[in-house]
Amino acid sequence: MYIKTMKLTLQIKLLPDDEQAKSLIETLKECNRICNNISNTAWQNKIFNKFKLHNLVYHPIKKSSKLSAQALVRCIGKVADSYRLDKKVQRRFKPLGAIAYDTRILSYKKISVSIWSVDGRLKIPFICHNPKYLPYIKGEADLVYKKNKFYLFQTVEVPEEDVKDVEEFIGVDFGIIQLAITSDGKSFSGKQVDNVRQKMTKLKKALQKRGSKSAKRHLKKLSGKERRFKKNTNHVISKQIVQLAKDTNKGIALENLKGFKVTVRKAQREQFGKWAFNELGNFIAYKAKLNGIPVVFVNPRNTSQTCSHCRHISKSNRKTQSEFVCVQCNFSLNADLNASRNIALLGSVNNRIAVHTPIAISPSLGTASSRL
Ligand SMILES: [Zn+2]
Repeated sequence: MYIKTMKLTLQIKLLPDDEQAKSLIETLKECNRICNNISNTAWQNKIFNKFKLHNLVYHPIKKSSKLSAQALVRCIGKVADSYRLDKKVQRRFKPLGAIAYDTRILSYKKISVSIWSVDGRLKIPFICHNPKYLPYIKGEADLVYKKNKFYLFQTVEVPEEDVKDVEEFIGVDFGIIQLAITSDGKSFSGKQVDNVRQKMTKLKKALQKRGSKSAKRHLKKLSGKERRFKKNTNHVISKQIVQLAKDTNKGIALENLKGFKVTVRKAQREQFGKWAFNELGNFIAYKAKLNGIPVVFVNPRNTSQTCSHCRHISKSNRKTQSEFVCVQCNFSLNADLNASRNIALLGSVNNRIAVHTPIAISPSLGTASSRL
């Protein structure tokens, strides 16, 4: 029987003792040093194909380095991969850059990993916040050193649950004041996000003005921080929305993201910036899929101008950005909530028409975007 699976990346934190940490550092340094050697040879000889490169470098390096056979194979692979995009510049690797592991040099026990290092195999305890996915470990992992801590970004292949049969859908409307509001009335405020953004914008402007080297470095750090904050917020919101669907045995209806535009005035746009709605939509879609919850995308046209009570469509239904009052039946409601109810309704209609609407999950699944 064929079981559909989804590739995800599981973050596993290693807890090495001091000596093991030293060994891991040395391992990263040695592997990246070897990668630079291989890259140099590849560049000099203009040989970038993995197998040809292997023939050229494997034996000489194997003899002169501390790398295990499989670790060396991984290094050759890393270099060959790095030239795939283009062969215009010689690739160089940072001393503490991530290195790849596979099952021959990394294995998992209940509470520890057995991981190859330049000092031999190390048995290191680990923590993982999503232990239910540990049985699905498959394929490669990256050893990553970040802020004095070691992580394994491990690929897992999680079987998808059969898609549940549902009658009703939760509609989700994305917006600015409320990042997301569901047709059940649950809203996710953009207020905290906005506070952080305003602080960041101020800081950024000040740094851009300074323009010095250290200011630029700060700026880079700041945008990394902002990206992580966005991503984390999107993870939190998507998790709650999927849980809501699970608890109420409903599907999830989202606006078709391609057609989706946040219509805000320019001043507002500057103030709020552009939220990563695409990311939020993708997070909801893959988390729903993992739980067998159907997701449908609906055309966002008219969802904000249609009365969710009598279906009357009119621009004048929208009194203000936040207030909806139907000119035909006088029904009034928060405008975003009204939109999300329309999306929910479209969701169940679409679902009845096409029971298995394909889910538009971004091709970047299996990378950081789908980190658990
Ligand atoms: Zn109405």
